[in-house]
Order: sequence, then structure tokens, then C-alpha cells
Amino acid sequence: MRKIILGKSVGFCFGVTKAVKMAKEILEKRKTLTTLGDLVHNPLVMKELKLKGLKVIQEISSARDCPFIIRSHGLAPDLLEKLRSFTREIYDATCPFVRKVQNLVKELSDENYFIFLVGDPGHPEIRAMQKIAGRNCAIVKPGQTRNVARAKKKWAIIGQTTLSLDLYRNAISGILKNIPLEKATIFNTICPVSIERQKEALSLARRADALIVVGGRKSSNTQKLVHIGKKVNSNTFLIEFPQEVKKINLAKFEKIGIISGASTDVICIKKVVETLRTIQRKKYREVKQYE
Ligand code: SF4
Repeated sequence: MRKIILGKSVGFCFGVTKAVKMAKEILEKRKTLTTLGDLVHNPLVMKELKLKGLKVIQEISSARDCPFIIRSHGLAPDLLEKLRSFTREIYDATCPFVRKVQNLVKELSDENYFIFLVGDPGHPEIRAMQKIAGRNCAIVKPGQTRNVARAKKKWAIIGQTTLSLDLYRNAISGILKNIPLEKATIFNTICPVSIERQKEALSLARRADALIVVGGRKSSNTQKLVHIGKKVNSNTFLIEFPQEVKKINLAKFEKIGIISGASTDVICIKKVVETLRTIQRKKYREVKQYE
């Protein structure tokens, strides 16, 4: 019998759950809400929120006199200050993990550490951290090593909360080639949700013949799950919408693993499973919970 093996930790992470719940409650009361960039990196969720009145703005000034929600990635301090001059109605959905790392960055910067921020320079979480760190910081893209002046007395290494462990480890080794080990402090700032899903992606990719990762193409944590899956199973596929599963030729696979990014609604996963079962009705009779 062919099987679908569903990951245990599919659906929204708690940071995204909090942001989406908060946005829905505000929209219920105020009928309008603004956010700088997508509230979550998932087009299906965004479509639903936009229908309820959420407006994605690209400039802080567009929030003038409107309620505004800070997304789970956080907001750079200079932007927050600017925002306050346009609206008084600000709701903060910064994920507690991101907030914790932001506080750490602030502390280290105040203590005159030079901070290496390992992550995507274009990601809002990293951009906000860079602003918090001020001049005492350099962003290191995973896969790139960074040379720094040896004049600094102490260094700290911090990673984006959704990094994969192997990319972070590699980046750390690269950085440590350029600075004295005894003067470097390394922080594991990858969030436990990301670590858990990465472990599960690896295990499912090994166990199944094919792995389907459901999540937004712009979602950093989803991309990391795909990266991990592909390392051990070349039949790892990323889909954003349930219907996309029809485009993958899965006929030759006996066991199909399914996992999701942190901003994918569990309803979307159910639709993927239903679609799979519909197109392969006679072949996939069971949905096994992954254990
Ligand atoms: S993936 Fe982790 S850091 Fe990001 S929003 Fe979810 S819980 Fe927070």
C-alpha cells in the first residue's frame, strides 16, 4: 500500500499563529490594517487577510492615521520611530524569539562587541538586527566568509532565527578563520521551531521516496527545509499551493513525506493531502501520522 507520511510539526509556528490571530482580531474591529511588506511569507494566508482589509505598504508614510501591525520578523528601531510620527495605533506581533535575539544584539552592541550577523541581508529580520547593532556589525551571507579588522577586542556570532544548522556551522567556521577563537562568542539563535522542523525534514527525506515541502517561495524557513531535504533526497519538491501537487509526477513513489514551512496554514496541508488522495485515489488509501 502506498503511503503519505505527514510531518508532526506542520502548520503555523507559534510566532506566525500569534501574528495572524492578532491581525484577524484587529481587522474584525477596525476593518483596516497596514503592514510593511507581507505579514507572513505565504500567499494563501495573505490573500485571506487582504480580503479582510489588510493593506501591504512599502513605505512607512503610507500608514498615516491607520492601524499598523509589526510582523513577526520585527521592525528596525529607526522605522519604528518614523512610524510613530504617522500613526499612534501600532500593534506589535514580533515573535518572542526574534525579540530575544534583538535584545541580545542590543546588549552585545552596548558592550562594544563586533557582531557577525549570519543570514540573508535582504530579510527584514536581519535588516532590523543590523539597525539595532549599529556600526558594530557585519552581515555574513551563509556560504560567504568575512574578513574583519583585527583591531576589535571581542566578537560575537549570531544567526538568523530560521537558518539551517549546517549553513550556520559552515558560516561560523569561515568567520573563525579570520578572528582569534578565544575572543569569539558564538550564540545559537536558531529558533527551536526551525530546528525541530529541520530535523523532521531530514528524517522524512531519508524515510520517504519523495518529500513535499509546502510553503511560500519567499519564506526563509521553507527554503531551508527544501535545502535539507534535497541534500539526502533529490526527489524533494516545494509547492506553494495545494493544486501544484498535481504537476509533480509522483507515480513512481511508494512513500511520500509531507512537511510545511512555519507560515503554512494546516488547512493548506489538508488540501494537499486531499488533492493527493483524489488524483491517486486507488493508490493512497492511508494517511499515516509521522512518528
Ligand atoms: S519560525 Fe521561529 S522565530 Fe520565526 S516566527 Fe516562527 S517561532 Fe518565531
